[in-house]
Amino acid sequence: MTRFFFRLLILFLFPATALAAEKVAVVTTIKPLHSLVQGVMGETGEAKLLITGISSPHGFSLKPSQVRDMQGAGAIFYIDEAFESFLKNALESLPEDVRKVSLSHAEGVKLLEQREGGAWDEHDHDHGHSHAHSDDHDDHDDHKKEGHEDHKGHENHEGHGTEADNLHLWLDPENAIYITRAVAYELGRLYPENRTVYKENALKQIARLNDLDTTLRTRLAPLKGKAYIVLHDAYPYLEARYDLMAVGSLTLEPDTPASAKRLKEIREKIQKTNAVCIFREPQFDDRLLQTAAEGLPVRLGTLDPLGAELEPGTELYFTMMNTLADGLADCLQDPS
Ligand SMILES: [Zn+2]
Repeated sequence: MTRFFFRLLILFLFPATALAAEKVAVVTTIKPLHSLVQGVMGETGEAKLLITGISSPHGFSLKPSQVRDMQGAGAIFYIDEAFESFLKNALESLPEDVRKVSLSHAEGVKLLEQREGGAWDEHDHDHGHSHAHSDDHDDHDDHKKEGHEDHKGHENHEGHGTEADNLHLWLDPENAIYITRAVAYELGRLYPENRTVYKENALKQIARLNDLDTTLRTRLAPLKGKAYIVLHDAYPYLEARYDLMAVGSLTLEPDTPASAKRLKEIREKIQKTNAVCIFREPQFDDRLLQTAAEGLPVRLGTLDPLGAELEPGTELYFTMMNTLADGLADCLQDPS
C-alpha cells in the first residue's frame, strides 16, 4: 500500500476527533511525585521527571530543554512553589493553557509547620501563631497542647504552602492518597477520553497506599520513644503519622550549612535525649554528621526521603517508603 492510501485509510478509520486527540504530556518534579502521577496515568502516557538521578530539589536549576518540555505540556504537577523554588520563573512564563497543579493546595492534603532551628523543643515555644494560616483553622487546642511532652510542636492544617510550612508532605501515605485523587481529577479534566482509566488506576493506587500505611504502622510501632537526629528536617510527616521521635536536625534544608552553634546544640541534644542514631542522606556529604557524632555513642544510619537511588516509576513511592522504614528500624532497633 502506498503512503497516500495509507493516509487515506487512517483518515477513514480515525476521523478528525481521533486525529486531533491531544497527546498526553505531563511534567513532574521529584521522583516520589512522579511515581504517584505515573501510577494514575498508567498506559496512557509517560510523565516526564525533572529532577532525575540523585539530584535534590534544594539548589536545583532547570535546563533549557526542560523549560521547553514544560511549555509543551498539558499539565505540570509539583509540590509547591515554595518547595521547588527553581520552577518559579518558568511557571510564570508558561502559556495560559498549561495547567499548573500545586499538590500542597490539593483537597485533603495536610500541611505541617516548619520547625525552627535544629534542636526543636527549645524553639517550638516561640513559634508564631500569628502567621498567615492562623485564620484558616482553629488552632486553640494545638496551642494548649504545645509545650508539653509532645516533641512535635508543629501544627496540622490543610492546604496552601508557604515558607512557613514544611513541604516534604509526600512522606505521609494519607497525603499520597489525596495527591492521587487530585492527579486523577486534573488529568480527567484535561484528557476526558482517558477519564475512566485514570479513575480505575487511582482507585488501585489508593488501595495500595492504604495497605502500605498499615504495613508501615506495624513495622514502625516498636521504634516509638527511640530518639534520633536527622541531617535535614525532611521527615516530620513520617514522624507525625507513625509517632516517631526525631529530636533534631542538623539543618533545616541541606543547602543551608549548619553553624558551629547548631553543632554544639545537636551534640548536647544527643547526650540529653540518649539519641540512638544519627541519619545521613545518600546525596549529601557525611562530614557534618560525623563531626556531630564524634565521640558520642550514636550509630550512623541512612534515610533517603526522595528515592534518590531508586529507578523512577510507579513502584518507586512504595519502595521508597518501605526503605525508609527499613533504614529507621535497622539503626534504631537494639542490635541482638
Ligand atoms: Zn528537603
